[in-house]
Amino acid sequence: MNQVVWIKDPLAILAEGAERGLVVADGRIVELVGAGAEPKTPGARPFAAGEHVVLPGLINTHHHFFQTLTRAVPAALDRELFPWLTTLYPIWAGLTPEALDLAATVAMAELMLSGCTTTTDHHYLFPAGLDEAIDIEIAAAKRLGLRVLLTRGSMNLSERDGGLPPDSVVQDEDAILADSERLVARYHERGEAAMVQVALAPCSPFSVTTSLMRATATLADKLDVRLHTHLAETEDENRFCHELYGCRPLDYLEDCGWLSNKVWLAHGVHFSAAEMPRLAKAGICITHCACSNQGLASGHCPVCELEAAGVAIGMGVDGSASNDESNLMQEVRAAFLLQRGRYGVGKVSHKDALRWATLGSAACAGRAELGAIAVGKRADLALFKLDELRFSGHGDPLAALVLCGAHRADRVMVNGCWTVEDGAVSGLDRADLMRRHQAAARKLQG
Ligand SMILES: [Zn+2]
Repeated sequence: MNQVVWIKDPLAILAEGAERGLVVADGRIVELVGAGAEPKTPGARPFAAGEHVVLPGLINTHHHFFQTLTRAVPAALDRELFPWLTTLYPIWAGLTPEALDLAATVAMAELMLSGCTTTTDHHYLFPAGLDEAIDIEIAAAKRLGLRVLLTRGSMNLSERDGGLPPDSVVQDEDAILADSERLVARYHERGEAAMVQVALAPCSPFSVTTSLMRATATLADKLDVRLHTHLAETEDENRFCHELYGCRPLDYLEDCGWLSNKVWLAHGVHFSAAEMPRLAKAGICITHCACSNQGLASGHCPVCELEAAGVAIGMGVDGSASNDESNLMQEVRAAFLLQRGRYGVGKVSHKDALRWATLGSAACAGRAELGAIAVGKRADLALFKLDELRFSGHGDPLAALVLCGAHRADRVMVNGCWTVEDGAVSGLDRADLMRRHQAAARKLQG
């Protein structure tokens, strides 16, 4: 596991001064090998990367693994966020531990095959019998070798109290906070090599009480873990906040004690110009979910204005029921096309989209040691071959990945270990997983 490996002579690489590749030891990048040079690290075994384009491992900063069980559900097609949610909540209420295990495994395998080395998940659904949802996800991540920042989500504002979800999927505040504390104590690793981290993540302003929003921020502070939620996703949410709380979503967040550098927010579509410097000042990062926002017609995240204001932009595939896939490399292309269309040539390039999915996402996850190929960073890498019809005739290999629509990594390394080899997740029986996952999805959807 702790072999010294020289990723040798890549076809192209997203790094400066690494024309002849990089050297990995003990899960870290220990050396970049420049043009005409040889590695100085003793004992480096070469891995011939002459057919590979090498990227920093992609980082997914927003998802809902369980939703892989409800992709393209007929009753939820062609709906905006709120009616889409109210259609799906009763189906999701039937989620079982076995189905969640399959869903999480499918979502993470799909991500890994797209070049992902770190993912978050926002699991906020805890119907009766699913108390150990996050434990199940962590076990699946460990089996696959993926680095994770899993969030203990929550909902406690049901229809009865003016919220959106039905009573059957919400929990009470004390149970949520106690389980959050249990999970952090049991699983949260600290330090640069951490493979499993836990964050706290009330679902959204329309499914969580103010009391729980405040208590969760206090607890995250006490436990020194990150905080996450959905915000500024739709106009419906703006209206909801105005009617219930008499203010805009960001004002509400501030009132709940959430303007903190521990926070990253999914979507950030509907921030006003005046709100952006407030986000930057607090050190809040935003996850851009290009496919989900387009699929639900929620609007477009103003990435250039946010970055100009000093807000880091990461990337997220979002739940599989709104995307409906978990391919992070295709998300990079979708974000590039969406934002190029919005801002124009000269403002957004393929390298910007790659930066959002690597360095920007690392900022969202609070992991400065991830997201780049540089000495001292963790050895998290995604290697793509350009051997499909879609790449035939390419010029710039790096640009071709985004422009020609790369969708499957040939090799992926996490913390110095290969997790994807020859286009397959190591140790995973993909056909068997798909058969069981499809059966679980049929059962859940009734
Ligand atoms: Zn989401």
